[in-house]
Amino acid sequence: MARDPRYDILFEPLQIGPVITPNRFYQVPHCSGLGYRDPTANAWLRGIKAEGGWGVVCTEQAEIHHTSDITPFIELRIWDDQDIPMLARMADKIHEHDALAGIELAYNGLNGPNFYGREVPLAPSALPVFSFTYDPVSAKTMDLEDIRNLRRWHRAAARRGQQAGFDIVYVYAGHALGFFHHFLSRRYNFRSDCYGGSLENRVRLLKEIIIDTKETVGDTCAVPCRFSLSELIGSAGIEQAEAEDMVGLLAELPDLWDFCLAGWENDSQTSRFSEEGFQDQFRDGVRELTTRPIVGVGRYTSPDRMASLIRNGQLDLIGCARPSIADPFLPAKVERGDIDDIRECIGCNICVSGDFTMSPIRCTQNPTMGEEWRRGWHPEFIRRRESDKPVLIVGAGPAGLEASQALGKRGYEVTLAEKTRELGGRVARECRLPGLAAWGRVRDYRIQQISRLDNVEYFLESDLDADFVLEFECPRIAIATGSRWRRDGIGRQWTTPVPIGIDAELLTPDDIMNSQLPDGRTVLVWDDDHYYMAGVIAELLRQHDYAVHYVTPAAEASSWTKHTMEQHEIQKRLLLLGVRIHTNLNVHSIERDNVVLSCMFTGSKECLAADATVLVTSRRPVNDLFHALNARCREWADAGIESVEVLGDAEAPATIAHAVYAGRKYAEELDAPSRGDAVPFKRELTGLAPLD
Ligand code: ADP
Ligand code: SF4
Repeated sequence: MARDPRYDILFEPLQIGPVITPNRFYQVPHCSGLGYRDPTANAWLRGIKAEGGWGVVCTEQAEIHHTSDITPFIELRIWDDQDIPMLARMADKIHEHDALAGIELAYNGLNGPNFYGREVPLAPSALPVFSFTYDPVSAKTMDLEDIRNLRRWHRAAARRGQQAGFDIVYVYAGHALGFFHHFLSRRYNFRSDCYGGSLENRVRLLKEIIIDTKETVGDTCAVPCRFSLSELIGSAGIEQAEAEDMVGLLAELPDLWDFCLAGWENDSQTSRFSEEGFQDQFRDGVRELTTRPIVGVGRYTSPDRMASLIRNGQLDLIGCARPSIADPFLPAKVERGDIDDIRECIGCNICVSGDFTMSPIRCTQNPTMGEEWRRGWHPEFIRRRESDKPVLIVGAGPAGLEASQALGKRGYEVTLAEKTRELGGRVARECRLPGLAAWGRVRDYRIQQISRLDNVEYFLESDLDADFVLEFECPRIAIATGSRWRRDGIGRQWTTPVPIGIDAELLTPDDIMNSQLPDGRTVLVWDDDHYYMAGVIAELLRQHDYAVHYVTPAAEASSWTKHTMEQHEIQKRLLLLGVRIHTNLNVHSIERDNVVLSCMFTGSKECLAADATVLVTSRRPVNDLFHALNARCREWADAGIESVEVLGDAEAPATIAHAVYAGRKYAEELDAPSRGDAVPFKRELTGLAPLD
């Protein structure tokens, strides 16, 4: 297929300062959870984006100086010349595919507790640090000498970025994460000198830094400014009108404006809380203020929308972080006219959770993310089959679907059997819950891929048992039969069944997803799962006008969603819907008309009247078929069976991202030589310093 002329505009080169991007696809700086700990894995990740057609590929933030480290988060460092080789490896991988390489210099100031360097954090005004974990550390007010030092450090870091080979060297004033943002915002800047007070004064340092950076590297590198158009906290912080005044003051100074929202949780909103293009409204006023190119984000996955944003002049470059993670080949697919092939981001922020848990990035849609170098996986290519032996996959959830499409692409004959009337497993069910519609893309992409493969056949309403599988005589069997929510309350608080009265009305999320609603009107939702499910169920029950009590042993609703930056939105939504949230409480026992709760700290009991309880505690693997087949392993040889594997939730319930990954892993490892006890992925070890 060829490119649709409607999208030609996305492939026009553009001058950014002294450099030219080959097209309008711009991967804005985003964290990877790899950072300085896994630099080669990071370099490969960025290189794959360039291979997939992104005209600009940027790193995550690189701390410019040892007086500002964001430990325990794993980003990049550009503290001295020792850091240059690892950064150069990233720039080199990006250049292999003719993209421009960008680096985001960052001085964290108020955001960095400096747990590594143990220096006192610096800030425009003395305040406690604003790290995500309320660290008991304060920053001191910078004096004028500190500011002079900072300017020198930034210039030195810019020079190192240039030496490492980067074409784009950022001044980072975005997200309320960057130091310069703190000078801009009345929320953090209470200075009475020439760097505080009036708008001009608060903008002064950013202006000086942009000028410094351009003077230092502007001959060969473009110098963008990443800038927040609102803090979304009203007049307490930067509001849109004030942000526009600031942009007006700096108008032509940077080579490129990279507009975002502060904080990061507002910039990277999930699909549960915002639509594609949710930032468009904030950029209405800035176009007239500058002739410099503008890049902006908004979880864009639609090339029509991208083209129209450029055509209507709002953006010059389409900024993407998550859409480029979910599909590093998005630009290449637009270029070759394969729009249906785009693996659209579902807006779940599992990628963000990698950063928050200091682990390598993972993505629900793209199981190869972060594994490009570690395991040699590629988002678009997978090696040809190494045998003619067909595969039977039982269960068409995310694990079974991913295994089917990946094995199909390898060239294996695949039969996929699904018990129900639809493909998708838990994703098909969960995407009908409030706010989760976009999650259906996990299923849709894989069905679309399978539909192109003649060697993959699927059968619905096929509830397979061991007899059938043995008679089917297929050498390879993969059991991806999923999981079911437990009805006995076992989870983290209870590892044995909760005492439940015989006449108590009990439901699980599976019941609710099967359209069964409680008989009683007052419902208690017990969340010992701590991810999204209990919150979504509470929301759905409120939509049906139930009185809802949400009980959790944690200190807040959907506690784990802090890692996807949704917790505050979830709690707000539940409160606004009238859900009563009860925290730090364990379930002691469940009776017909009430639930006895116990305080997590004192053990004191209280009774909460409830007609029904929804148990959102944990899931049980559906692995009876796997065990039944294993129990009959003596019959395998006669049936021509060589292997029976269990994968995804049927092995151990976890996130959808885990299930997709498990499906991919099965497909990647089929017929691969055994590595025995060897670590199955590459890793980088810290180089030992010479002992002197
Ligand atoms: P995962 O997340 O691991 O992919 P899911 O629960 O999403 O798991 O999907 C499992 C799928 O397996 C469901 O669609 C379910 O209907 C199907 N399934 C379960 N048992 C059988 C079986 N015996 N035969 C065929 N399909 C099955
Ligand atoms: Fe999108 Fe989720 Fe992948 Fe992040 S993890 S890129 S939000 S699909």
